[in-house]
Amino acid sequence: MSGDTTGQPQDDCLFCKIVAGEIPATLVRETETTVAFRDINPQAPTHVLVIPKAHHKDAAALAAADPALTADVLRETAAVAEQEQLESYRTVFNTGAGAGQTVWHAHAHVIGGRGLQWPPG
Ligand code: AMP
Ligand code: ZN
Repeated sequence: MSGDTTGQPQDDCLFCKIVAGEIPATLVRETETTVAFRDINPQAPTHVLVIPKAHHKDAAALAAADPALTADVLRETAAVAEQEQLESYRTVFNTGAGAGQTVWHAHAHVIGGRGLQWPPG
C-alpha cells in the first residue's frame, strides 16, 4: 500500500513510478536522494514538485522517519527556486486529504513566477 512508510517503493504509487522511470516526467533536478519535476497541472509559471526517492506517505511521515532526507527535500526546493530564478516563491506540503493532498508520496510544491495571495485557500 502507498500508505506504508517503509521507505520502500510502493507498486501503486504514482511518484514511485516516476522515480523508477516507469511514468514520464519533465525532470528539473535530480540528486542521489531526490527528484524534482514539473507539475502536470501547473498553478503558476513555475510549479515544480520535489520528492524523496524513498516512499513516505506524507511530509509528517517523512520527517518522523528520516530527518536527513527531509532536509534534502527542503534544500532541493531552494535549489529549484534558484535554478528557476525565483526571487519569491512558496514551498507547500499539502498533508492530508482535507488540505488537498492527492498523491500519497511526500512532495513539496515549489510555486512562483507570479504574485501569490495570503492566506492560501
Ligand atoms: P497534492 O495535491 O499536494 O497531493 O499534489 C499532487 C500534485 O501532483 C498535483 O499538483 C498534481 O497536478 C501533480 N501530478 C499528478 N500526476 C502527475 C504527473 N504524472 N506528473 C507530474 N505531476 C503530477
Ligand atoms: Zn511512492
